[in-house]
Parts: sequence; C-alpha cells; structure tokens
Amino acid sequence: MPDNLSANVSETIQRESMEYDVVIVGAGPSGLSAAIRLKQLGGDDINVVVLEKGSEVGAHILSGAILDPSGLDALVPDWKDKNAPISVEVKEDKFLTLTEKGAKTIPNFIMPPLMNNHGNYIVSMGNVCRWMAEQAEGLGVEIFPGMSCSELVYDDKGAVKGVVAGEFGKGREDSTETPGYEPGMELHGKYVFLCEGARGSLTKQAIEKFDLDADCDVAKYGLGIKEIWDIKPENHEEGKVLHTSGWPVNDNAGGGSFMYHGENNQVYIGYIIDLSYKNPHLYPYMEFQHWKHHPEISKVLEGGKRVSYGARAVTKGGFQSIPKTAFPGGALLGCSAGLVNLPRIKGNHNAMHSGKAAAEAAYEALQAGRSGDELSDYDANLRSGPVGKDLKPVKNVAPLNTRYGAKLGGMMLGGMDMWFATIFRFNLFGTLKHGKTDAAALGDAKDYPVIEYPKPDGVLSFDRLTSVSFSATNHAEEQPCHLKLADADIPITINLPKWAEPAQRYCPAGVYEILEENGEQRFQINAQNCVHCKTCDIKDPSQNINWETPEGGGGPNYPNM
Ligand SMILES: Cc1cc2nc3c(=O)[nH]c(=O)nc-3n(C[C@H](O)[C@H](O)[C@H](O)COP(=O)(O)OP(=O)(O)OC[C@H]3O[C@@H](n4cnc5c(N)ncnc54)[C@H](O)[C@@H]3O)c2cc1C
Ligand code: SF4
Repeated sequence: MPDNLSANVSETIQRESMEYDVVIVGAGPSGLSAAIRLKQLGGDDINVVVLEKGSEVGAHILSGAILDPSGLDALVPDWKDKNAPISVEVKEDKFLTLTEKGAKTIPNFIMPPLMNNHGNYIVSMGNVCRWMAEQAEGLGVEIFPGMSCSELVYDDKGAVKGVVAGEFGKGREDSTETPGYEPGMELHGKYVFLCEGARGSLTKQAIEKFDLDADCDVAKYGLGIKEIWDIKPENHEEGKVLHTSGWPVNDNAGGGSFMYHGENNQVYIGYIIDLSYKNPHLYPYMEFQHWKHHPEISKVLEGGKRVSYGARAVTKGGFQSIPKTAFPGGALLGCSAGLVNLPRIKGNHNAMHSGKAAAEAAYEALQAGRSGDELSDYDANLRSGPVGKDLKPVKNVAPLNTRYGAKLGGMMLGGMDMWFATIFRFNLFGTLKHGKTDAAALGDAKDYPVIEYPKPDGVLSFDRLTSVSFSATNHAEEQPCHLKLADADIPITINLPKWAEPAQRYCPAGVYEILEENGEQRFQINAQNCVHCKTCDIKDPSQNINWETPEGGGGPNYPNM
C-alpha cells in the first residue's frame, strides 16, 4: 500500500482513502491554475491531486473563448516559450445590433475601454486546459480524469476533509449490490478546492452546509450554446471577433451572440441567453439556431460544415453575487464562486487568478502547520485583488439588463455606469440588486405568448438530437439517472399546467420530454443525452431537479470547445 493509502469505513460502504495536502475537484482553468501554483511554491514537499469527471482533461470544457491573458501571465509568465496553444491574437473587434434583416454597428469608441479586446487571444479553452494539465503534471501534480466527485467528506468537527470519487457500477435503482460495483475512494486533503465551474454539484452542497451565500446577492446564470464550424477560407478572417445583440431574442430575454474566427478556418459561434427570462415558451436552443439565418451570420457559414456542438451554463451574478469563498477545510474557485465578467463575457482569466490566489493562501497555511480551517486570506484577496478590480466596474450591467432590457438597461445605462466606474473609480448606480433567482423569474405560461420557431433547415440549423450527436455525449447505460427529481409528480401535476413544463425547451440536449401514453401524460428523462450544462438545476421553476454527478467519463467528449 502506498504511504498515503489507507482503508476507510463510511457508514455501510467500505472505501480506501488517500491523503494529500490539497485535493482539487475539476480540471478547468481554476483548478489547474491552483495545482500549478501549489507545485511552483511547494515543489516535492506538497502533494496535489486533481480529479476530473470528463473522460480526459478538456472533454467537458466549453468556453467562447477570447482569453484575457492576465491570469496566465501572472501564473506562467513564459507561456509563449512553453508552446501554449494561444496564438490567434484578436485583430478586429466588431459589435452589431441586429434586426431581422438588418444590422447596425456600435462604434468601438462608445464602449468603455474595459470592453476592448486588444491584446486578447481567440482560443479553444479545452486545448488550453490540456496544455495546463501537461504543465501541472510536469511539476508533479497527479491528475485523474474519469473521476466524478460525488460526495463531500467531513471530519468530526464538521470541516470538509475530502471527497468521494470514482464510484462505478451502481445499478439503475441506485443499488450497490451489482457485481461490477466499485465504491470509489475517499481522497482526503488538508484543504479541498471546489473548481467545478458554474453550478457545481458539490459546490451547491458546500454553499448550503456552510451558508456561504448568507450575505451576498442571488446567483445568476446564462445558458451558453456553442458550435464550431469549418468555413470556406474566403469567409475566414483569423482574429476577427463579432458580438451581436437584438434579434432574434430581442426583448424576450437578455443575451447575445459571439462569432470568433479561430485558427484552421474555424469559427466558434454561440448564443448566451440570460436564464432570468420570464416567458416559459422561450426555447433558447431554437433562438440560437434561428440566429444563424441572419444575413450577417449566414454569409460567413454558407458552404461550411458544423463540426461540434455543446452547451454550458455561465455565471453572471458578478461581484455582488460572490458567496463567501472560504469554508472550514476548503474554498470555492473560478465559476464555482461565479467570477465571470458579464459584459466582457470573460471568466477564464478570473478563474486563473482565483486559482493562483487560493494556492498561495493554502501554501502559507500549510507552511504554518494549519489544516482544515478557513482560508480567509483567499476570500479577501478575491474581493480586493485582480478579480475584484475586474468585476466591480461592471457590477450593475446584469441588474440593469434585467430591469430595463438589453438596449436601455444593459447597453445604455450599463455603459454609462461602466464609463463612470472607469473614470471616477466608483459606480454611478452604487450596487444594484439582481432581484429574483432565475427559477423564480419564470412567469406563468398563460400570461405569455407562445413563440413560433421556424423548422431547422438541416444546412445552417439543426434539430436538437442531431446536434447532441456533435457533442459525442455518452453515459454508461446501467447507472442511476443522475437527474434526480425531488418529487416525481411535479413535472406533470405542477410544471405542465403552470409553466407548460419549460424543461422541454430550456434543455439544450432534449433530455426532458412529455410523452402521451394511453391518454396519460408522462415525464421522460433521457439522461444519456445530458451535456452537463446544469440549466435544469438552475431554471426548473419548482427547483425539483437536482443534477448529480453521473459515473466518471460520462457526458460530452468535446474535442476543442
Ligand atoms: C458559452 C460560453 C462562452 C464563454 N466565453 C468566454 C470567453 O470568451 N472568455 C472567457 O474568459 N470566458 C468565457 N466563458 C466563461 C468561462 O468559460 C468560465 O469562466 C470558465 O470556464 C470557468 O473556469 P472554471 O475552472 O471555474 O470552471 P470550468 O471551466 O467549468 O471547469 C470545471 C471542470 O470541473 C469538472 N467538474 C465539475 N464538477 C465535477 C465533479 N463533481 N467531479 C469532477 N469533476 C468535476 C468539469 O468537468 C470541468 O472540467 C464562457 C462560458 C460559456 C459557457
Ligand atoms: S439535462 Fe440539465 S444539465 Fe443535462 S443538458 Fe439538459 S439542461 Fe443541461
């Protein structure tokens, strides 16, 4: 048995355990940054493990992405010499407001300087994370992909002391009695970093257990749906960035689109819909498909081929929604703490800054012989350091967007507030509140018009199931459904009559269906199609759906999202 391996009995299930200094859940930019920084500081004296539910690092990473390199500059200043897959500098930055057939350019000079993409890079964050994992492994970090972390483990004082990871082979009915059942392991750490991205499943438990959101505003989210297209070389302009607002979603929801011309004649296109939308008939997936038919977009895609599809929630609560990030025995990093700068649509740099800051706080604590306590220095650094400085000037854009719509609220008033904060270093509107949670924001179906969407043409736009096949999603069949309903009757008895069961539309993978059988309606969950975006956990108006980790390795297999 290795030094750090021992047997552990938890209730009825016997598990082996391994001891580390720091256990990191999630191999995204925040988790990998923390791992790299810990080993830069502690070398062989510190042992660090990263656990990732995707089949490999990068398999579950979905981002735009334009990378603000400030986080990486601080972490690995010589990243260019180390062949980081970051080479396409932004050359042109365009913003359009769309009407059904037309488009108006918003001149760059009216945008506050913080919106400028000069010096940023168009990247595949999946590939950046793969490269970061190589750097981490080179420093001695242990990285285990295919390991879903399904439970937090507490010590006798109630502090987090580890996670359960790698439980496999449960039967469909949650049975642990199947012949192939493997109980997984407990991985114990003096500190446990939760780096699960938006709406993490263990993060949700930690927030509840330690009341981490007692003093902050509600968490807010958007749903981002993305495709990668190979386009004709004559349509490709490497380094070009296009953002749009307006059509097709217009005033039905906040949100907008992106189109980034990356390398190899590829464009990364996507649509982010604020999940605070009210009309339960809204169908985010179809808004995105429809958007591709706008002349400004179709002229780039025509003659091209869609090669990849995926979706992921993005945090948008900003500064006022950051929960307490340090708790006994651990910390929340990156989008587990909600660190996206909404108007810039950027969170990767803050994920990296948070990883570095958490690692430095943990290293100092370990040097002082501490363990299992709160890393309060990390929490303070997050608010006053580079992350806080990035998020404060933009903190009112999301609430203004929700109150007054995208044009008047987000762009005009939000723009004024950002300019004010840039020049005078404080926000014109103080700190605005977000109001309701995204789930509570949904209105009754009877009060909103049904929205008709055109049928996908199979050339520019596609049906959902065809799209899911472009995410290479797969889950082992014989396992319990990882989308848990607190009450199995609610979808039909409450959600259907009141909200026309919106899960049928907000899920970008078509997981939820209402089927008619023998004159009766039934709620069907096609869990095998789930792309782990977490939207159902966020938007279900009854808060009846709990997203739990399926077996490790399940879910999408994104090549370069
Ligand atoms: C459509 C879209 C466009 C975006 N565009 C940009 C952009 O252009 N620029 C930018 O800077 N930011 C952008 N963002 C935001 C950015 O992607 C996030 O801020 C960033 O990914 C956060 O990093 P993270 O490390 O916190 O989490 P993530 O990148 O989400 O990584 C979390 C990792 O943890 C793993 N994980 C989660 N739970 C568990 C568990 N229980 N057990 C094991 N593993 C687990 C996941 O599989 C994943 O690999 C965009 C986001 C979206 C959705
Ligand atoms: S089931 Fe939930 S988490 Fe999975 S793809 Fe659908 S909305 Fe996203």
